Amino acid sequence: MRSILPARRRALLAVAGLCLSAVFGAAHAADPVKAVASFSILGDIVREVGGNDVSLTTLVGPDGDAHEYEPTPGDAKKLSAAQVLFVNGLDFETWLPKLTKASGFAGKTVVASQGVTPRKFAGHGDADTHDDHGHDDDHGHGHDHGHDREDGHHHHGDADPHAWQNLANGVIYARNVAEGLAAADPAHADNYRQRANAYIAKLQALDANVKKTFAAIPAERRKVVTSHDAFGYFGDAYGVAFISAMGVSTDAEPSAGEVAAIIEQVKRERVPAVFVENITSPKLVQQIARETGAKVGGTLYSDALSKSGQPGATYLEMFEWNVRQLAAALQP
Ligand code: ZN
Repeated sequence: MRSILPARRRALLAVAGLCLSAVFGAAHAADPVKAVASFSILGDIVREVGGNDVSLTTLVGPDGDAHEYEPTPGDAKKLSAAQVLFVNGLDFETWLPKLTKASGFAGKTVVASQGVTPRKFAGHGDADTHDDHGHDDDHGHGHDHGHDREDGHHHHGDADPHAWQNLANGVIYARNVAEGLAAADPAHADNYRQRANAYIAKLQALDANVKKTFAAIPAERRKVVTSHDAFGYFGDAYGVAFISAMGVSTDAEPSAGEVAAIIEQVKRERVPAVFVENITSPKLVQQIARETGAKVGGTLYSDALSKSGQPGATYLEMFEWNVRQLAAALQP
């Protein structure tokens, strides 16, 4: 086999790699790149693109809620040794800046969503049934109700962070990951790009299938309720209307009035199904199902993969699973 380079050639490449990657703190170009990913879905993309050239640690693991994560001292240690950090961006990982600072992380940060067209989130659930728009005018009154999410301790930006829920954005993530790894480890740049291309072909094939699947379901049936507003990009890309019970983040309970408004909407619009998520409590969604007669369609993977051995252990698997659950529930 000629796949192994002559020793001298390898040494030269190693030296070149070392010079180029010195800024990233590479100990030795032949060692796998030490990479950290902020959450499981992104971690899987890094694993696909990085292969054996990368030694990967993921901070928020399977079934974990990356909106509401409490970093551990162990996380700071992992980060301090890392050469590259992959983050979603779009204000998803609100806890991360503090952690990177505390860890003394000196590597390169790659924002996987760079280049995605950000989706503005509409506020809490459906824009037409909530009165929380234009609330900027109300500031200072001190007693408005229903604004607790925005006034909570987490400050989210205007953009919806859940961009991975459109496979076309997954393609952008994979490209950004490949270029980030190529910059950190130029000696293996070709490997990263080749793996990314093979992976992107799978993402694009699935994307085409998902579009076909939902196009075959009558538009008036393509409506579901989920716990939190994680599926806006999915809805835009594949033509499904998602009504969320909690808003875009997971850090606050909706008020009784907001829940009543959602129940009213589900009845009025004859929403066929409600779904629980792997990262949130099923209680609220189950209550909505009880009070409206909508069926509980199953569990969707929103912001995290499943544990291995369960149906959503990779980004591709979680997407296929979600589509299967949704399509089965929405079919007339
Ligand atoms: Zn989320």
